[in-house]
Amino acid sequence: MVARQSNFDESTVSGQHVVRASNDVNYRRHILPGLHAECPNCKAKMWIWERAERSPMSNPVFSTCCSKGKVKIPAIESPPEVILSLLTGNDQSFVQFRRSIRAYNNIFALASNGADPDRNLANGRQGVYTFRINGNIHHQIGPFLPPNGQERPRFAQIYIYDREMQIDHRRTIMQNLDESILRRIQDWLLANNQFAQTIQFAAERLRNEPEAELSIRISGSTSQNRRQYTAPSVRSGCHCLRTRK
Ligand SMILES: [Zn+2]
Repeated sequence: MVARQSNFDESTVSGQHVVRASNDVNYRRHILPGLHAECPNCKAKMWIWERAERSPMSNPVFSTCCSKGKVKIPAIESPPEVILSLLTGNDQSFVQFRRSIRAYNNIFALASNGADPDRNLANGRQGVYTFRINGNIHHQIGPFLPPNGQERPRFAQIYIYDREMQIDHRRTIMQNLDESILRRIQDWLLANNQFAQTIQFAAERLRNEPEAELSIRISGSTSQNRRQYTAPSVRSGCHCLRTRK
């Protein structure tokens, strides 16, 4: 972190890894060396100075990652083949995909993020940007059909349309995304993602029965553990229900 605040006392920055910027003698900064150590249990990348007390430099053990192997962390599952090739391929469009990966993620999101941030802190006017919220972070899901006056569909609403229209809407919202990559991700989602499929199913029913009132219900796991994320159980899912004819 670069210390630039007016009340900053540069003499407080000291230690082994301090450098002074050559073009500005008025501030020093810490340059952290690479993470060259590895936890022998969970394989987390660590700084050697993070090792447990009384653990030797030559054979370090770590407790801040997995409590010296007591916590077993399951390996991250490999992504589907379509995503894996985008993440690892050398094709120029794949490289571009990785540069714009957040835009691709956003354009396929079914819901927007909702939170009540503390605006006094998260104003970016002074100090380090701090994001503090009151209450829970949640997902915002709008109405199934775009309301009157809304220019174009957003988030889950895009999934109502047929494949070509979905591509058009996504490219209208974010013009710089590669059409063939959009198509690959979209095809995979429509073939595999339960939420995307349920919306497509509901849209099909609406076309056949325009008067029907449908709702999409997402049922989550009933056992709540507020201290950790609970993976959806078999009983959870996403369903299209008729509420009234
Ligand atoms: Zn570990």
